[in-house]
Amino acid sequence: MLSKKVARFEQSVCAACGACVKECPRSAVAIFKGCYAAVAAEQCVGCGKCAKICPTGCIVIEERRNEDEN
Ligand code: SF4
Ligand code: SF4
Repeated sequence: MLSKKVARFEQSVCAACGACVKECPRSAVAIFKGCYAAVAAEQCVGCGKCAKICPTGCIVIEERRNEDEN
C-alpha cells in the first residue's frame, strides 16, 4: 500500500549534491544524469527526511495524487 504523502522535487533548483540520496531510508532518490535528484514515487514513504536535509529547499512533501499510483 502506498503512503498518503510523497516527496516532490523541484528539479530546476536542485544542486545535485546527493544529500537526499544518502538520507533516504528507502533508497527512493537518485541523481539523474548527474544533474538533478529524482524520486521513485512508489518507493517513497513521505517521511520528509530528504526535505529536511536539502540545502536548496527544492523538496516538498505533499499529498500523493492518484496519478502517482499508476
Ligand atoms: S520523503 Fe522519505 S522516503 Fe520519500 S524520498 Fe524523501 S527521504 Fe525518501
Ligand atoms: S538534497 Fe536537494 S539539492 Fe541536494 S541533490 Fe537532493 S534535492 Fe538536490
